[in-house]
Amino acid sequence: MDEVNPFESLQEQIDDAAAYLDADEGMIERLKQPERVLETTLSVEMDDGSIETFRAYRSEFNGDRGPYKGGIRYHPGVNRAEVKALSGWMVYKCAAVDIPYGGGKGGIEIDPAEYSESELERITRAFAKELRPLIGEDKDIPAPDVNTGQQEMDWIKDTYETLENTTEPGVVTGKSLDNGGSEGRVEATGRSVSITAREAFEYLDRDISEATVAVQGYGNAGSIGARLIEDQGADVVAVSDSSGAVHNPDGLDARAVKDHKAETGSVVGYEGASERLTNEELLTLDVDLLVPAALENAIDADLAEDVSADVIVEAANGPLTPDADDVLADRDVYVVPDILANAGGVTVSYFEWVQNRQRFAWTEQRVNEELERLITDAFDAMTAAHEEHGTPNFRTAMYVVSIQRVLDAAEKSGLFP
Ligand code: GLU
Repeated sequence: MDEVNPFESLQEQIDDAAAYLDADEGMIERLKQPERVLETTLSVEMDDGSIETFRAYRSEFNGDRGPYKGGIRYHPGVNRAEVKALSGWMVYKCAAVDIPYGGGKGGIEIDPAEYSESELERITRAFAKELRPLIGEDKDIPAPDVNTGQQEMDWIKDTYETLENTTEPGVVTGKSLDNGGSEGRVEATGRSVSITAREAFEYLDRDISEATVAVQGYGNAGSIGARLIEDQGADVVAVSDSSGAVHNPDGLDARAVKDHKAETGSVVGYEGASERLTNEELLTLDVDLLVPAALENAIDADLAEDVSADVIVEAANGPLTPDADDVLADRDVYVVPDILANAGGVTVSYFEWVQNRQRFAWTEQRVNEELERLITDAFDAMTAAHEEHGTPNFRTAMYVVSIQRVLDAAEKSGLFP
């Protein structure tokens, strides 16, 4: 498969939607480039006394609607183009669910599995020191992403607050409950995946409780998405992680698979599975719903020809290449785009930030009700735009809505100077 540059994919997605908008060309060009990108080298002492260096990035894509917002990932594949793309997707994701943020994203080029807890703490704090001039609850607000979670966010908050001599819990989201995190934040990405899957089936006059489901990637979004989709009565029949895929046509038990992964480090070897599959076999399995929940570019145009699912819900960011999108639209496969499907994470991040600023904690029930409202409103805005403009797919419709919201803010503020 040819390497698809995710930043070029983002720009193509924006152009596809701009064709339906009566917008100034220069303003659209402006929405296709990050405002700034920090690229830095972290030098950190390892447990054995040696010094290692790590390349790290933070891209601030657009702040027209509010502070830059988005996660930080730890992965050996992190690079400048990827971080720029991911930060742009955050802009349109936050606009899709209509929360008052721009978009940002960061990452460290690292395989965290190779480092001890104390090394990861020093690496994270070194990154937080570099981020300090950029971040702040009204400036740029990091959160978890691939291979990061509450612990990293707690370290970033502590480093920032120590250096700034202040308390500012809203400087990052996705923190532990003990450090100002929100109820429901861990489940939030999987929850929007399951809400939008339900809405997509309803839109097609089908019942999700009768669906069979395959999930690629069994991290936070994939494993919790699978469980919540299963709770709606659907059968999760295949799941995978970076070590391989497992299948049982009679259904797996999403919770038990997660427990197995927590114990052994992988879904492979789960005793309730009847066979192993390759990654490609999982993505082309004869199921009703496919949930790519791993990394970018999981499905290219060739693979898209062989996808059997009727509906794809993108739990990952950027799992389909633009060419795959075209093939799937031609084949009438409905795709719920990442900027809506996985927007639950940043939506509950927003609720966490609101709670932090008010120093008042919501119940889990309130979090989930508000999440349901924002996600279903965005789904309705997307399907309305799809019908009004006759867009080839839901992604372009969602971008039409989101880009218009960013343009409305930018045009009313005007450009400085
Ligand atoms: N990393 C998540 C995403 O890609 C969450 C970002 C956030 O909560 O700010 O949407």
